[in-house]
Amino acid sequence: MTDRIYFDHSATTPLDPRVAASMDLPHGEVFGNPSSLHFEGRQARELVDRARGYVATLLGASPSEIVFTASGTEADNLALLGVFRCGKEDAPGHMITSAIEHPAILETCRFLEHNGVQVTYLPVDEYGLVDPDDLAKAFRPDTRLVSVMAANNVVGTLQPIAELARITKEHDVLFHTDAVQSVGKVPLDVNRVPVDMVSMSAHKLHGPKGIGALYVRAGVRLQPVIFGGGQEHGLRSATENVAGIVGFGTAAQLAVADMGDEAARLVQLRERILAGLRETLPQAYLIGHPFKRLPGHLCVGFAGQEGESIRLLLSLDEAGVAVSSGSACSAHKASEPSYVLLAMGFDPIRARGTLRVTLGRFNTKVEVDRFLQILTQAVNALRPVASYAGFTR
Ligand code: PLP
Repeated sequence: MTDRIYFDHSATTPLDPRVAASMDLPHGEVFGNPSSLHFEGRQARELVDRARGYVATLLGASPSEIVFTASGTEADNLALLGVFRCGKEDAPGHMITSAIEHPAILETCRFLEHNGVQVTYLPVDEYGLVDPDDLAKAFRPDTRLVSVMAANNVVGTLQPIAELARITKEHDVLFHTDAVQSVGKVPLDVNRVPVDMVSMSAHKLHGPKGIGALYVRAGVRLQPVIFGGGQEHGLRSATENVAGIVGFGTAAQLAVADMGDEAARLVQLRERILAGLRETLPQAYLIGHPFKRLPGHLCVGFAGQEGESIRLLLSLDEAGVAVSSGSACSAHKASEPSYVLLAMGFDPIRARGTLRVTLGRFNTKVEVDRFLQILTQAVNALRPVASYAGFTR
């Protein structure tokens, strides 16, 4: 297993050993309930509070603005449902989102629609970008929330979040961003960008699975979706996942410490793959924006061979390389066209055939070069490029 190449960091990242060490809460000695008043409880509370501070630094937020959840999915649900549960049952109102959000947002929108909320899905261009003018035109007097993701999980495109948030605030509406893919990789400072809520997830930044957070700007009113003992400012009842929170805190600390250098390193590796592909596989084309994209994220198609993407993925896996054909959460729909690519204007055949290559902290140039060799062989072993005419993208 050791010489396998893991290039699927948008699905999840390996736990950093320093994160794992921090979660081994001195071999089980810290086990208290953070709500208990005794020494054991206070010990656990101290760890949770310290980690809350580290997670807050990811966004330049204040620790009291961080609500821990069990996942990025739950943070997204809390943001959307939390706004629409605040009264107004007789007039549920309107929200604006994009057509390419993660299912954690889109499925929550469907639920809201069943409950009377009207939802506008903004289109995206061929790179997956939302046009700020389209957002400006979509507001209605009853718009209560805008939610646009900071970075797309399938194609890696970064949205102009600062501009979208500014337009939203001009309309005095709340702005949420699902930053699960970008937090800790691309800066987002809540003191400069007027976002009201930001979703995060530890397992995308070399932290543990099953722990996420929602940044909620001081003064923003939300209703909980989970009721109970009133933990997390009453917004997320349940005894805290202390080890998970501590791991998230360490992962945040590590990400903040070298975000700039690590992003530059990943961009170099990404561009090395792209340059290699151009040399050896001229049918390869980049999907998503050429530079407004996550540092370690590549999404590529192979013209005329799109129908072979699952076969390609499996043969890469056999050769020791883990990549994705789209987003891991839809692996069971792997042979269906991606709704993200369809929204970007791809025809259904091309929208089925993507290879997502996403890099992380422990990847090296040596791995990139080996990957290029393996990929070239695997693509050349597929059926020859079919003559396929009639598509524009
Ligand atoms: N939002 C985006 C953009 C994601 O990529 C993901 C996970 O892939 C999620 C939300 C869900 O996060 P989690 O796996 O922590 O529930």
